[in-house]
Amino acid sequence: MAYQVPLLIGGKMVPSRTEQWLEVNNPATQKVIARLPCATEAEVEAAVVAASAAFVEWKETPVPERARLMLRYQALLKEHHDEIACLLSRDTGKTLEDAKGDVWRGIEVVEQAANIASLSMGETQENVARGVDCYSFTQPLGVCVGITPFNFPAMIPLWMFPLAIACGNTFVLKPSEQDPLVPMRLAELFMAAGAPDGLLQVIHGGKEVVDLLLVHPQVRAISFVGSVAAGQHIYRTGTDHLKRVQAFAGAKNHMVVLPDANRQQAINNLVGASVGAAGQRCMAISVAVLVGEARELLPELQAAMAKVRPGIWNDPDAGYGPLISPAAKTRVLQLIAEGKREGADCLLDGSHVRVSGYPDGNWLGPTLFGGVTTDMTIYKEEIFGPVLLVIMVDNLDEAIALVNANPYGNGTSIFTASGAAARKYQHEIQVGQVGINVPIPVPLPFFSFTGWRNSFYGDLHAYGKQAVRFYTETKTITARWFDDEAVADPNMSIHLK
Ligand code: NAD
Repeated sequence: MAYQVPLLIGGKMVPSRTEQWLEVNNPATQKVIARLPCATEAEVEAAVVAASAAFVEWKETPVPERARLMLRYQALLKEHHDEIACLLSRDTGKTLEDAKGDVWRGIEVVEQAANIASLSMGETQENVARGVDCYSFTQPLGVCVGITPFNFPAMIPLWMFPLAIACGNTFVLKPSEQDPLVPMRLAELFMAAGAPDGLLQVIHGGKEVVDLLLVHPQVRAISFVGSVAAGQHIYRTGTDHLKRVQAFAGAKNHMVVLPDANRQQAINNLVGASVGAAGQRCMAISVAVLVGEARELLPELQAAMAKVRPGIWNDPDAGYGPLISPAAKTRVLQLIAEGKREGADCLLDGSHVRVSGYPDGNWLGPTLFGGVTTDMTIYKEEIFGPVLLVIMVDNLDEAIALVNANPYGNGTSIFTASGAAARKYQHEIQVGQVGINVPIPVPLPFFSFTGWRNSFYGDLHAYGKQAVRFYTETKTITARWFDDEAVADPNMSIHLK
């Protein structure tokens, strides 16, 4: 019988009493690697109650102690880095190199959480009026919830619970039902690092479980990363129930290539950023905008993409792994067929690719479309597969107008040798994360992950200072002391010395 994933509630790994189970499959073979419970209403309740109970003590725990927990956790994660990456590869199909990146980007956020003392400091101002001082503290909210997607099962949970907990909150994590094994391992290591019982709970399931959390009176804040439809539902329902919500959603990221760009760099980066991780990255480049004479890059781009092939996680020659599920593959195949039907020019079609020895994997070869127009379904929808669309425009202004007219605003990049063109692009583009000769500009954790428009619903973003503000309240104190007489009193001044 396949491994049955437990729930983590109140510091204990407990078997679920549910009758509803899901299968977790290896996407390269379809082999069942685990059975996942959909937590019952009573189990969701128990998780929130355990988090609430733990909050009473944890919010009083001195900041340096909270920081030390993060230091111990960071050390343990580093020690187990390769082991977690292998598990991640098995669960998601990602190549080992890619899986290592997923784990490492998460560890970097834990490092940042260890800086909580300086990150969460308030402000002070002396003499806001005569003899009056004003200062502020940050204080934790209470129970926070995280709902995470399949595509970064290490990094995205680590965007959330370490910082929330370092701020003094307690946490309920609901990881993706498609690859829950890595989040469970992260939770085990968190406990092994000495986290008191109840700081972190992990419960499993789909929409029903999330919906219980969204309306729970003891939940104060919700962090979500996933698709637009789920993000809009979670943002609306959570805020309707007067909770703080940050919801990171889908994307359509453009890379603009100017004629003066370094040719080889532009091509290599377009290929890696579009098909890497099978295109299952919210910051993947899915549209190449070739400006003016840069259109001449297309044949070279096509040739370079044709050389990349998917493969099994430990195949050193594999460019990327399978899609996460047969359903995800079917959806991308339908979009490719729709692109052809709507008249785009399919220059490379990966629909029928095979990987020797793995006939059941959710493989898809690199796929390239030219002649794409903005009214086509393949342009309007996030594809989330190894598919790159190419659009030609005449000048930089047209490229900027095109990107700004797209409803998403997660990431974009420009490849050019011109500082002036790059400066114009970074200033005028309505996208929250911009790369200049950098294809996937994911900010490091001392900044924040700042998607805009339909790629983000909320105000304060993930990690960095913004996340600390998201996970805390600010308390501002205005203080005046009537101590003139005490200071003048010779007996009192002795005490004051
Ligand atoms: P998904 O929306 O299907 O699932 C994400 C999480 O939400 C899962 O835990 C799932 O159980 C839950 N969920 C799904 N539907 C729900 C619903 N109707 N109500 C409540 N909860 C629901 O997303 P996915 O397929 O796991 O991940 C891929 C998506 O995530 C892509 O759209 C990608 O762009 C996006 N993503 C965005 C970012 C970002 O930072 N903007 C980062 C990574 C992934």
